[in-house]
Amino acid sequence: MLAAGGSLALSAGCINTPTSGPIAVEEPNDCLEQLDDSVPEEEATALSIDGVERQAEANLASKTEAGYACGPQEGMLCGNCTFYIDDKSGDGIGACAVVAGEVRSVDWCGLWQPRDGYGGDGG
Ligand code: SF4
Repeated sequence: MLAAGGSLALSAGCINTPTSGPIAVEEPNDCLEQLDDSVPEEEATALSIDGVERQAEANLASKTEAGYACGPQEGMLCGNCTFYIDDKSGDGIGACAVVAGEVRSVDWCGLWQPRDGYGGDGG
């Protein structure tokens, strides 16, 4: 089961909900247009920054399923996620062990898990 996210078409800003307080809302997912659905071979076969093996292509979550959003979420971003595969092709864009397609280190999704040693308090 994948976490929420979905395809909310909201403008930038914050929403106040009665139960959970403010929810940061990223700008529209414009970054998705620059992210290819496939990744370079050297990233498809690489381990994540924590050594997690990438799932088989058929088992990867789509960005929609994962609730992928352009930009970080309260300090959580691909770059500090245990599943992030660092850029290996020199284009500045990485990949993910559990989500399909190219992934930017500055983005986030609902499958985020802290990388080893992540303090979660700004560190
Ligand atoms: S935040 Fe999501 S897309 Fe980014 S590396 Fe982690 S699991 Fe992959």
